[in-house]
Amino acid sequence: MAAAKPDPIPDFLETSRKGVADADLRRKLENSTGRHLEHVAHMRAEFPGYDGERDVARRIKEDAIGRLDELLIELKQKLEANGCTVFVAADAAEARDYIIKIARKASARHVVKGKSMTTEEIDLNPALQAAGMEVVETDLGEYIVQLRRERPSHIITPAIHLSKEDIGQLFADQLGIAYTAEPEALTAAARERLRSIFLGADLGVTGVNFAIAETGTLVLIENEGNGRLTSTLPETFIAVMGIEKVIPKLADLSHFLEILARTGTGQKLTTYTNFISGPRREGELDGPRAMHVVILDNGRSAMLADPVMREALYCLRCGACLNVCPVYRRIGGHAYNSPYPGPIGSIVSPNLFGSAAAKLPFASTLCGACRDICPVKIDIPRILLHLRWKETQAQPPTKWPADARRTRAGVRRFARMARHPRTLRLLSRIGGWMLRPFARDRYLRRMPGPFKNWTRWGRDFPAPGARRRKPRGEG
Ligand code: SF4
Repeated sequence: MAAAKPDPIPDFLETSRKGVADADLRRKLENSTGRHLEHVAHMRAEFPGYDGERDVARRIKEDAIGRLDELLIELKQKLEANGCTVFVAADAAEARDYIIKIARKASARHVVKGKSMTTEEIDLNPALQAAGMEVVETDLGEYIVQLRRERPSHIITPAIHLSKEDIGQLFADQLGIAYTAEPEALTAAARERLRSIFLGADLGVTGVNFAIAETGTLVLIENEGNGRLTSTLPETFIAVMGIEKVIPKLADLSHFLEILARTGTGQKLTTYTNFISGPRREGELDGPRAMHVVILDNGRSAMLADPVMREALYCLRCGACLNVCPVYRRIGGHAYNSPYPGPIGSIVSPNLFGSAAAKLPFASTLCGACRDICPVKIDIPRILLHLRWKETQAQPPTKWPADARRTRAGVRRFARMARHPRTLRLLSRIGGWMLRPFARDRYLRRMPGPFKNWTRWGRDFPAPGARRRKPRGEG
C-alpha cells in the first residue's frame, strides 16, 4: 500500500527565520552542542591514535564506495546464506511497499522500531500506520519526539531541541505520571511503558550502522539496549540500510568503532554493539524467526556517479557536524524540513529529496568546522559549493532570486576592483572609516545598509582595523 501523501514542504528560509528568532531554542541547542563538543575534545585528547584511525577509516570507505557493486553482491549472498531475505529497493516507495507486504504477511499489528534515519528518510511510520499498524519508537529520544508528533531534530539526539522540563511536562500530559524533570525518573517512566510494548510486538524494524560483506553481518550500535530488543524479541525483524553502509571485512570494523562514538557522543564506545547475522537457528532459544534486509538506493547511485558528491557516501551519521555548525546551532534541525539536517543534511538532502531541498546547500557559512570534526574527513564545504554551482547552473540568472542577482553583481564589481590594488586599498580605508562609528570593542554589532542582515540575528563582525603600523626594525 502506498504511503499517505506527505504534507507540502515548508520553505527553508521561512522555517529558518522562525528557528533563529526562538531564543529559547538557541539556548537549548548551545547548551547541548557545547557539552558535546567538550566531550569530543576530551576524547580526542585522551586517544593519541584518533587521527590515524580517521585516516584508516576514510581509506576503507574510499575502497568500499569505489567497489560498491561488488561488495553489495557479496553482502547479499552472505546474508542469504545466513538465512535472511534481501530486498533491494530503488526508492522510498519500493522500500515502504516491501516492508508493508512483509508486515501483512506476518499479520503484524504492533511494530517496535529502533533508531533509524533511513526509515525516517522513507517516511515509514505514516505508511505503517496507514496500513493499520501501531508503531512505537523505542529509542528514548525518538519516543519523545513521537509523543510530540514531531520529526527528530538531530540525527543522533532526536530531542535535542527540548529541555528536561519540556520532557517532564510531555510525560505528565501524555503518560499521566506526576510532573518531574529528573532525567532518571523520566527514563524509568519511558522504560516502564516500553517494556510491555516490546513484549507484545510482532514486528521489529531497525536501521544498520555497518554491513560486513565478508560475513553477512549487520552491526547495530546503540546506548539503550532497545536496538537489541527490537531485533530479537518480535517474530519478524526487518533491517533497513542505505547501500553505502557496506564495509568489506570484519577486521575493518574496529577502525570505525574507535572513532564513531568518540566523535558522535563523546564516548569511548557505545554501550551496545550488536552483531546480527541472521534469524533464529535450529536449537536457539531466541531471536526472530524471519529476518529481512532492505537495501535502499533512493538517489545514492546518482551520488556515486558524481565524482564530487560520492564522498558524501562515506558518512557514518555520527552527527558531529551538526553540533559544530554555526547555522544548525542557530536554527535547529526542524528548520531544514528534512530528516537529515545540518551540514550532512545540506549535502545529501538535495540528492535524496530533489528540488524540495535545493536551498539547503546555501545554509552554510563555509567555515569548514564540519570538515574538521568529521571522523572520515568528508570535505563538506567543497560539496556544498558544488551543489550551489549545480543549482545556479540549473536556471538562467534572470530566474535567480533578487538577493542572488545582487550578490553576483557585487562579486563582479569586487573582482573588477581587486585588479587595481591601489583603488581597493583606498576604498577599504574609506569603508573602514565610515564603519568606525558603528564599532564597539573592535566589533560591529550592527551593520548599516545592505550589510544589516549579517548582524540582524546577534552575529557580530570584526570592525575594520586601524592601519597596522610597521614595528620598528621591520624591513
Ligand atoms: S558528515 Fe562526517 S561529521 Fe557529519 S554526520 Fe557524517 S560522518 Fe559525522
